[in-house]
Amino acid sequence: MERRTKIVATVGPACEDEETLRGMVIAGMDFARLSLAHANLDETLERLRKIRAAAEREGVVVGVLADLPGPKVRAAPFPGDGVHLDEGTVIDLVAAGPADASDEQRIAVDDASVLVELRADDRVALGDGAIELLVREVDGDRARVEVVSPGWAQGRPGVVLPAARQTTASPTSEDLRLLRALCAAEVDAVAISFVRSAADVDRARQMVGREGPMLIAKIETQEAVDVLDDIIATADGVMVARGDLGIRCTLEDVPHYQKRIIRTGVAYGRPVITATQMLESMVRAPAPTRAEVSDVANAVFDGTSALMLSGETAVGHDPVGAVATMARIARRAEEEFDYLGWGRALGRQQAVEAQGAPAQVRITAAVSAAAWRAANDADVAAIIACTNSGDTARAISRFRPTVPVLGATPSLRTFRQLALAWGVTPVLTDRHGTTDDIVWFAVQGAARRGVVKAGDLVAVLVGAPTDPDPATDTLRLVRVS
Ligand code: PEP
Repeated sequence: MERRTKIVATVGPACEDEETLRGMVIAGMDFARLSLAHANLDETLERLRKIRAAAEREGVVVGVLADLPGPKVRAAPFPGDGVHLDEGTVIDLVAAGPADASDEQRIAVDDASVLVELRADDRVALGDGAIELLVREVDGDRARVEVVSPGWAQGRPGVVLPAARQTTASPTSEDLRLLRALCAAEVDAVAISFVRSAADVDRARQMVGREGPMLIAKIETQEAVDVLDDIIATADGVMVARGDLGIRCTLEDVPHYQKRIIRTGVAYGRPVITATQMLESMVRAPAPTRAEVSDVANAVFDGTSALMLSGETAVGHDPVGAVATMARIARRAEEEFDYLGWGRALGRQQAVEAQGAPAQVRITAAVSAAAWRAANDADVAAIIACTNSGDTARAISRFRPTVPVLGATPSLRTFRQLALAWGVTPVLTDRHGTTDDIVWFAVQGAARRGVVKAGDLVAVLVGAPTDPDPATDTLRLVRVS
């Protein structure tokens, strides 16, 4: 059976050439992530074009997730391999000018407004939080800080202020400008950084509408964890952004938040991406550490829909090797996953619990649950979710069925977006006028792909194509002829 847990790989300078992208697609990249915190819009759109071309050449589906920068403040670059900031050193934080640089005496910050917010005794973190600076005095937009936790500052590290001083809302006006261009380029999903409430997701939704890219809420602040249900109910997917989460929350809370975010995402039928430092040592080393291998396997056991690679592929020495390694670990973990136990323990889909949930949502949830039961009781060989929006495929995916799940859709947008759904193989179909035709062609397609053979029983989830208020209201068990 195909791997069920999906792989999201960040595309950056180390892997944007045709040959490497091709290798990553073959190794198992299901979704490519483009970080707009590290590339401008033109570079991002060029990478989008190259990824689509590589996927087309290999005849596989690869979705593209554009990650908006949000209100993250960064330092101007440190020279070469970076500088060591020694404990007790006093440094000036100043507003960065054009083409500015940082060093061990002066750190240039790309958003001067944050310096005005600082107060004496505030703590400011750099990068992944290992370096900590204590504010001694503030003079207008210049702050004098002392290094209290030393370390190497490299590249353009993030500058993390105390939560109380973080006043810029997300998405920022720059995010919304980028979002408009990304919608025009038909990107499949957009990640919103530093979401703090459902209203943040709503602001992006007003721009993209229901037919635009999926909106993935990055959970990376304590405020977001505190209103997790609201955010996930409003978004189309969620990311456990462990990098910033580990700076902005208590570090030892991160594994527990990971489990909570995954459970809540699954409860709502939303894909969940577990991200950051999953195979970090592979940025330089040929193999991951034992701890990293265990971390990836544990994310699979937690029930994550997708695993993400960041620097490992964007700037690492062997992006194809990193994808192949992650695919191998996921596959092995899936052999141990308790599929039946998972489905039995699953509560009702949260959308059904919501006050005033539309009838279509309730009907789709009900027949999807019936399909999972039928798959176990009637010994079916595969489940086919015939879907326009992708919701039916995601509704059955949350049960983590033991048998293959095909997401059959006539929509190119849904076809690509389903590359993120756990265990769903997206299949692009023609548009058919009757329920009977949709079922017949879907089963024929599954047989042609070798997923099922003559004599097998297939569970097909389908709705009436002419229904003005479409719901998946039918479950058919079909014997393959
Ligand atoms: C994270 O913080 O874990 C994350 C994925 O966000 P970014 O890498 O964009 O800062």
